[in-house]
Amino acid sequence: MKQSPSSKRGRGIRSAETLSRLAEGLSASGSRAEDEYWNIKLEAEIKKVILEKDEISLNVALDKLSEKETRAHEELADAIEGCIEFERIFLENNSFDSLLITAPVLAWSTLGLSNFNISKKYLEDISALLRKHIFNPDAQISLVNYLYSPDQLPESFIETKQLKKTITHCLMKNSHLLLNEKEIKETSTFLADQRHLLGVVAVKTGDHIFQWQDNFMRPEDIEASWKKVSREMFSKIMPQCAREAILPRAYYVACRDADRQLRKFSIQASVSYLASSLSITNESLLVVIGGCYDRHLEEYRISFCDKRSFEVYHGIVWPLLGPEDELSELIEIIEAYLKSCGIAEVKSLSQRLPLEFCEECGSPLYPNIEGEMVHIEQPENDSPQHQHIH
Ligand SMILES: [Zn+2]
Repeated sequence: MKQSPSSKRGRGIRSAETLSRLAEGLSASGSRAEDEYWNIKLEAEIKKVILEKDEISLNVALDKLSEKETRAHEELADAIEGCIEFERIFLENNSFDSLLITAPVLAWSTLGLSNFNISKKYLEDISALLRKHIFNPDAQISLVNYLYSPDQLPESFIETKQLKKTITHCLMKNSHLLLNEKEIKETSTFLADQRHLLGVVAVKTGDHIFQWQDNFMRPEDIEASWKKVSREMFSKIMPQCAREAILPRAYYVACRDADRQLRKFSIQASVSYLASSLSITNESLLVVIGGCYDRHLEEYRISFCDKRSFEVYHGIVWPLLGPEDELSELIEIIEAYLKSCGIAEVKSLSQRLPLEFCEECGSPLYPNIEGEMVHIEQPENDSPQHQHIH
């Protein structure tokens, strides 16, 4: 029998309440014994909600807990992400632990980043490289033949779970997920951006997934060597751009790593771009940093200006991540990083700036030295005329 939408809505509220009560129970727990009880209950409820494709209950429960700013919010977010990316599967009577992973790559190109497909041969080569340097050498790995930009990644928990299931299905057939490029939505082009190589890794239940679980190496050291050993491979897959690989890890934590590292990478890319494409050196630059507000501080916008004319030639957005807010001293971090890139003149604005975008092209407006939000104007070579990039 079909249910009316109104009765479904009532059930959704009940699920959201159950989720938040269980997460609050877990966060208040004082012993491992109690933790285990709450974890089992919470996981079962999340799995039920995911099975019903009830995205709303997950988000309502998260929102409700985030208003209270308690640890329960963290507990619930961790539990949901865990249920999405991790699953025990059975293959020929053996039990395997399977994990959705991403190997993020930061990249920039003066031409803007294009779409990158990966041939079957390279998928095999990357799997071998991942087994050798990152995951259990006996792990089964299935990858996707396409590098996702952030706005092409699944938007909701349920869509992410669906993609995980699809890749896991390929893994069980010992193959990779070969997408048709037409199935992937279009992406906006930025000078610098992230790309994600997604996959599922499976090991026998009880075995380690990552090498650092077995050899107790620090993930930072493994990341440093991954940047080197993966360089040649990614240069074949992503030609004509500058790249930096990030440690492949479980999906959600690796996405957060990529977001965080992209902020500094974008500054470095901007400095290189201005010097190589527009012949603007650090000595002729003044950089302006301004905080843009909606109700709260939403992001910083960083303008690269001509020191004499104060024209804004280039701009980047420095988003706030996780619990960051206006007290997070991000301006100091941005200033220090700009200086480490060789930019001596940096001005940070104290006023609250509006979160404005160009009405024609939708691109963000950036603050000039007076704190007015303006459009980027690139100097044209051999011409005093300036070009608007529409
Ligand atoms: Zn515009």
